[in-house]
Amino acid sequence: MTRQIIFAITLLITLGVFFYTINRLISYFRFTKPFPVTNFGKRFGIMMKVAFGQTKIFRRPVIGFFHAIVFWGFCVIIFGSIEMVIDGLAGTDKILRFLGPFYNILMASGDIFALLVAISIIIFLSRRLFFHIKRFEGIEMKKRSHTDAGIALTLILLLMVSLMTMNMGYLGYKELTGAHVNGIYPVGALLLNQFHGSSAESFRLVYEASWWTHILLIFLFANYLPYSKHFHVFMSIPNTFLSRLEPLGKLTNMDSITREVRLMLDPNAAFASSPADLPVERFGVKDVEDATWKNYFDSLSCTECGRCTSVCPANLTGKKLSPRKVIMDLRARMKEKGPLMIKNGKDFSDNRSLLRDFISEEELWACTTCNACAKECPININHPSLIIDMRRYLVLEEASAPGELKAVFNNIENNGAPWQYSAEDRLLWAKDLEININ
Ligand code: SF4
Ligand code: SF4
Repeated sequence: MTRQIIFAITLLITLGVFFYTINRLISYFRFTKPFPVTNFGKRFGIMMKVAFGQTKIFRRPVIGFFHAIVFWGFCVIIFGSIEMVIDGLAGTDKILRFLGPFYNILMASGDIFALLVAISIIIFLSRRLFFHIKRFEGIEMKKRSHTDAGIALTLILLLMVSLMTMNMGYLGYKELTGAHVNGIYPVGALLLNQFHGSSAESFRLVYEASWWTHILLIFLFANYLPYSKHFHVFMSIPNTFLSRLEPLGKLTNMDSITREVRLMLDPNAAFASSPADLPVERFGVKDVEDATWKNYFDSLSCTECGRCTSVCPANLTGKKLSPRKVIMDLRARMKEKGPLMIKNGKDFSDNRSLLRDFISEEELWACTTCNACAKECPININHPSLIIDMRRYLVLEEASAPGELKAVFNNIENNGAPWQYSAEDRLLWAKDLEININ
């Protein structure tokens, strides 16, 4: 009973801290703009393919394979973790054993995946420690990002090691006392062979110690994740569900502009709704409160893997732009301004903004809108949508654009075309040719 009480208190503290953090992150969503979500069937299909099928991660087959192992491993091992929580609370032992043969498969695959995940994590850690991987570098990758990756990977490694020793201890203890073994543990059995001659009591101690180490590491990991890039463990699956469904290159209309144009075309509508009824809309994105909730969701989901930046033609040709930085900057700015808006209201200004204080005009105008970043992102984050909306702000609200673009805008306004020739002169090129241009 004491064991159950200690477990219940630990779980309660874990859940309390976890929901406090999550609630804080969720509360920032109310400051963002709407993003309609429809077509659930199609979205479900994309989620199954991209998240559970790990299809995009395999674009880099070798390292993608190891990442997929970790993902699929988590999907299987989580059943064992749920069982541990129930056992901890109810004082039972292997409560899911009623699943019979399926339980054996679940435990065996969890045990094997623990080893495979541990191997994958050692490979990930070695890459970070001993190899110079270009996509892990960049101005946005501060020391904190590397430390964070190291901490999260070490925690996962410890989780897997404790799971394997727990299975070994369980197996050794049950076998030596002649009790029935629930589940199959191939890796546990392999490890057990290395400890021939040990007593049942020592295996029981290993089992107990590993059980507590494993569950406490799970609790610690769950509470560390919201502060880490590994928050994608929670966010990436829903983020793939929220994937963009339109073709990547399609520019969406701005509702605020559409409304303005409609009002101009229909003066009655303009008079029918008094300006006081209409909220003053900002065109485009200057700061976090102008971004959609999906933009913010993207930023929370980002794994900082750098796949987007590694294919960005602007970045590859030495421009300042890094699509990963754009997404990380949005998250950092919300972390900075979110608490201030909660305290002082949505209209609060700290005289800083996402534009310029985090993302420069130079970065924004370096984007070719090729969408390579969005195509490469393993969890379907859409960077260009944010970049384009920030440019829209610059053009529509500040009339700020590079000189070449300003000339294009002037030509469109004066000549109805991006070129500097007037409409009457457009067919002059054909005047000496024997074709009828009338
Ligand atoms: S859309 Fe822009 S940010 Fe993305 S890869 Fe192309 S140039 Fe880079
Ligand atoms: S935006 Fe996507 S591709 Fe880029 S770093 Fe984040 S998760 Fe990786």
